[in-house]
Amino acid sequence: MKKSLILVPDADPMPVVLPCGNAWDGRADKPQGPVEILVKDRKIAEMGKKVTRPDGAKVIDLSQRIVTPGFIDCHVHMTIPPSNFSRMFTDSQARGFLHAFEPLGKMLMNGFTTVRDVGTSATWNYVTVDLRDAINQGMIAGPRMIVAPHIISSTGGHGDMSGTLSPELWAAMKSSNIADGPDEIQRVVRDEIKGGADWVKCAATGGFFSPTSDPGFSTYTQEELNILVKTAHDQGVPVCVHAYGDEAVKRALNAGVDSIEHGNMASVEALEMMAEKGICIIPTQYTFEDTLTNLDNAAYWAARPPWEFRKIVFYAPAIKTTIKNLAGSRVKIAFGTDAGMFPHEDNWKEFPTMVKNGISPLRALLSATSTAAGLLRRPDLGTLAVGKTADIIAMPGDPFLDINVTGRVDFVMKEGKIYRLP
Ligand SMILES: [Zn+2]
Repeated sequence: MKKSLILVPDADPMPVVLPCGNAWDGRADKPQGPVEILVKDRKIAEMGKKVTRPDGAKVIDLSQRIVTPGFIDCHVHMTIPPSNFSRMFTDSQARGFLHAFEPLGKMLMNGFTTVRDVGTSATWNYVTVDLRDAINQGMIAGPRMIVAPHIISSTGGHGDMSGTLSPELWAAMKSSNIADGPDEIQRVVRDEIKGGADWVKCAATGGFFSPTSDPGFSTYTQEELNILVKTAHDQGVPVCVHAYGDEAVKRALNAGVDSIEHGNMASVEALEMMAEKGICIIPTQYTFEDTLTNLDNAAYWAARPPWEFRKIVFYAPAIKTTIKNLAGSRVKIAFGTDAGMFPHEDNWKEFPTMVKNGISPLRALLSATSTAAGLLRRPDLGTLAVGKTADIIAMPGDPFLDINVTGRVDFVMKEGKIYRLP
């Protein structure tokens, strides 16, 4: 074992044989029945009725379980302090880094082997880039991270946190994410990429959590979004756009973005545009389930900014309409949760929320496996097949019959390393 705050298994594990009672490969329309998997050198080396058992191979009995590819959450905020959002406005970068340790470990133990962190507006420097690298180097245990360090935003937009921070603090931070007009946008996008961004994230509407913006209105013009996307794409970096209101979703799609984050008030027309262009929506439905079902819970709102409550109440009907329209659409959905806006380890609850909202268990499960891997340009992930990276999880029961089984993951392997045993 390496010495670190959280112990991680050795770098080069022995081959592992997994006799599995049932398996779903991340693509098929149903589980395929019993299968054996041989994992070697961090990859799936063999899969079939019977696989070879190399000398020294560890055999782990999963005959009472279904195995699936490791889950992928495409929308998390790891540096938001668990259960106390307000602290994200005042905590130091070091604290933001430390906040992430525990939730990263918990999410991995729940079967999430990859997450895309889409930044915050109060993120100092490039803390999620450091977290990503620390995980890749085995210093801490967590899902593999793919990161967009900051939320690029207009003045007064979703990323403008000046109402929540002291003027001094805000003056020190704003240069990393506030950009108006083509020149500033180009500079900030290039800073992000230089700082180690895997994705560029921007906010095309206001948000619920930010003090001065409105989620229904656009905060970037078409020209601003066009230059933002072009600047990122010129360097091969994809762009994800936070957008609730319909007009902003359409502008983002016209600008050529790679994913729409939230889209919770998109019209049928905008959803159809997304489907036509093959662009994923990341609908983050559990976070609304969480807020909408807690509307009367005073203790819940005491920990959150008052403006968020007002906005949720106002936009609840529009959100509910889009939930229905999304279920009836043919849009590609990628799993994403906004974890951090609620305790990170509850992110699996997006699965039952999607199903409750009319999305089939298959579409929900695809969203967190092969569809998410496609969005993240990681064809080695999200599927169980020979040659793929060995991100394998197992759970008792069948999530196609009872989606809540996704919350009972008790075997976790990431890149051939075992983190949790039943
Ligand atoms: Zn978010």
